[in-house]
Amino acid sequence: MKYTTKLTPLILLICASSLHAEEPKERDEIAEKYKWDLTDMYVSTDRWEADILKYNALLPEIESYRGRLGSDGKTLLAAIHKMEEIEMLISDIFVYAGLKSYEDMRVGENSANFSRARTLSTKYNEATSYMRPELLAIPPRKLAKMISSTKGLGIYRHFIDEQLRMRDYTLSETEEKILASASDALGKFSSVYGAFNNADIKYGEIVDAEGNTVELTKARYAAFMSSTDRRVREDAWKGVYGEYERLGNTLAANYEGHVKARVFQAKVRGFDSALQAATYGNAIPTEVYTNLIEAARQGAGPLQHYMEIRRAALDVETLQPWDTSAPIGEETIKDVSFEEAKQIVADALTPLGDEYVTTYWKGFSEGWVDAYESQGKRGGAYSWGTYRSKPYLSMNYNGTFSSVSTLAHEYGHSIHSSLAAEAQPYTYANYRTFIAEIASMTNEAILFQKMLSEADSREDKVFLLQTYLDEFRGGFYTQALFADYEMQAHAAVESGKALTKDSLNKIYHDTHIAYYGDSVQMDPLVDSTWSRIPHFLRNDNFYVYQYSTSFVAATALAKMILIEGEPARLRFLNLLRSGSNDYPIELLKKAGIDMTTAAPVIATIEVFDRMVSELEQTLKE
Ligand SMILES: [Zn+2]
Repeated sequence: MKYTTKLTPLILLICASSLHAEEPKERDEIAEKYKWDLTDMYVSTDRWEADILKYNALLPEIESYRGRLGSDGKTLLAAIHKMEEIEMLISDIFVYAGLKSYEDMRVGENSANFSRARTLSTKYNEATSYMRPELLAIPPRKLAKMISSTKGLGIYRHFIDEQLRMRDYTLSETEEKILASASDALGKFSSVYGAFNNADIKYGEIVDAEGNTVELTKARYAAFMSSTDRRVREDAWKGVYGEYERLGNTLAANYEGHVKARVFQAKVRGFDSALQAATYGNAIPTEVYTNLIEAARQGAGPLQHYMEIRRAALDVETLQPWDTSAPIGEETIKDVSFEEAKQIVADALTPLGDEYVTTYWKGFSEGWVDAYESQGKRGGAYSWGTYRSKPYLSMNYNGTFSSVSTLAHEYGHSIHSSLAAEAQPYTYANYRTFIAEIASMTNEAILFQKMLSEADSREDKVFLLQTYLDEFRGGFYTQALFADYEMQAHAAVESGKALTKDSLNKIYHDTHIAYYGDSVQMDPLVDSTWSRIPHFLRNDNFYVYQYSTSFVAATALAKMILIEGEPARLRFLNLLRSGSNDYPIELLKKAGIDMTTAAPVIATIEVFDRMVSELEQTLKE
């Protein structure tokens, strides 16, 4: 039983980042009502230190169950309760230290505390590492009897089932030990890429739209890609991709090592494929993955249509890769005050019911929200907390439509966490990655529909449609394309082929054409795009498809809530309240979406298609 993911019960989600012209304020210059209230977790560092002492004293108690889990139901239940008690404590210690350090990353004491907390949580994983193998060693019949005959153990049935799923793919103790000792070395490809991508790579300099020579960085790249100056966009795009291309052989060799390591790990455990190994733990049938890709490929028409509309609206002869995020209208919705944004989001979320909206307002009065950027504050937007804490959320609100949307998005995570924690015992209050982005994206979809329905000028409509279509493209099509590429790269290794710069570029090239056709000019640098995606190097590979499936589920849910009304709303809230008390696919089935079929993907593409037509019509007006 490893609880690394559970140590961040409200999955830390980095959802958006922004670039500002003016210097951010110091944290103490920002009014209290726009900052979160962490004193609710710990009134002082002394209290936090006291919990660490408590934790260190408690930790040996979980060790005392070693070798005894299979003795009887009562002992097993006591061990699970002990585990929960300690895990809740270390979660509080860890998350508080994290949140505190993210307030101002320049404060050395806070980041030192965060790193202490990380070390402490590793101890927890070590102390409980005997539990899963011991559980697996209990004969299934005996375990079933222990569960049915022990009062209080029944609610852990699903949790135990999750641990036992791996039974068929678990090797002997000696073999497991060898695999565990190799895992650090097999995970190094990811570290190599991280070191390269976060520290070593440099993109050189660029002349911005105002004629200033500035360093091209990842943060600036995103801003340059939505510049109205085509020359700036081209220089930024080529500046970034040119660097990855230049190092293509190195990056391909490293990626090949990574894929081979994953294929090896899957094979020795007896999985049919690395894809099956990656999806098995959460009981996601591989068809969910393959259906997504097939439906996205077949539904590429609307994507190409959108690119054609972009080309015409930008009035360019051919659409280049650096034109795909260029603004095709005025940014009409901006300078929205935070107070206005709060109200806009509250009004939009009305279809989710009184209780939902009450919880939303409670979040502001209870200090869940950290609204503005300040010196040293961690970038991006995220929601994070523990079972016992408030579901805190942080953002860098800047008055743009995208900022308003981020507020709705992060609140989706926080209310999801809040409802799950209220309804579930600790063990099920967390939710899995496959589910994690659904509530947040549903909120965004509902907000967008509401704002679009109320937009009264042509300019507002164009702006809203373009913004959401770009998000749709990035969240659904792009991730499906990535997932498609990732599957082919693994399949190549599984069939004994080598991965080289040329072969990987070819896979990416062909996949890109399958989605975009000739709607975007195939600049030669497009082929090396795969080498810029850090997710491909995650040790939990086959990760990105979950962005696409989340987009699909959220689109379906938003549509059901807005059209079907009450029954859909109740199913949605039930999904949020369920946390992880069942497997993700089952939870979604109960909410009315069967992800094992292609139908929800096809329906999502239809929504995209209709919005593309609406944009086309609006542009003609
Ligand atoms: Zn998110």
